[in-house]
Amino acid sequence: MSAVKSLCVFCGASTPPDARYLEAAGHLGRLLAAEGIELVYGGGALGLMGTIARAARDAGGRVTGIIPHFLTKLEAKLDGISETIEVETMHQRKRLMFERSEAFAVLPGGMGTLDETVEMITWAQLQLHKKPILMVDVLGYWQPFMGMVEHVIASGFARPNTRDFLTLVPDVDSILPTLARLKIDSGPSSVPVAE
Ligand code: AMP
Repeated sequence: MSAVKSLCVFCGASTPPDARYLEAAGHLGRLLAAEGIELVYGGGALGLMGTIARAARDAGGRVTGIIPHFLTKLEAKLDGISETIEVETMHQRKRLMFERSEAFAVLPGGMGTLDETVEMITWAQLQLHKKPILMVDVLGYWQPFMGMVEHVIASGFARPNTRDFLTLVPDVDSILPTLARLKIDSGPSSVPVAE
């Protein structure tokens, strides 16, 4: 049995020139479908987001997309998935993605991906949740980010235990075995509503 029933994936809405990023996203989508794990994501059809969701959908997986109404055209809402939840604001999207999933996997992405990831880290730091956050280091993409985390800790702006909120995994295939090893505490959240 899988360690989690639902995984929230943060990743880019862009299509990078290096196709290996897209391949990693497609691979994760198919893996989740094969394992019967629900994919919770931002609902769009573009970039890595679209690639992972189409891959999971086409492999018969359960996919839940959460997208603010104003982005349904900009980010091209993906059709044919199990459930699309339209919300009003970016904050509602982030909160619902959080509530609907037991763990997070972060594939390469841009500012939106960074924003979502850092907010989940800060919520963990504030002891609002204990859900695992896995940084999936496709092509070493997250090395500079992990370096920044170390710099923040070394400079005294975060406690060393900040490291405990993040788990760096080398590739997509390491996600599910790592989740199986971690104790998943997806208990009720006390995250305040931020509108
Ligand atoms: P990006 O990594 O910039 O390609 O964005 C990935 C996803 O994050 C896109 O669906 C963005 O709409 C979303 N995003 C951007 N900013 C935020 C935010 N402040 N809160 C929640 N999602 C965001």
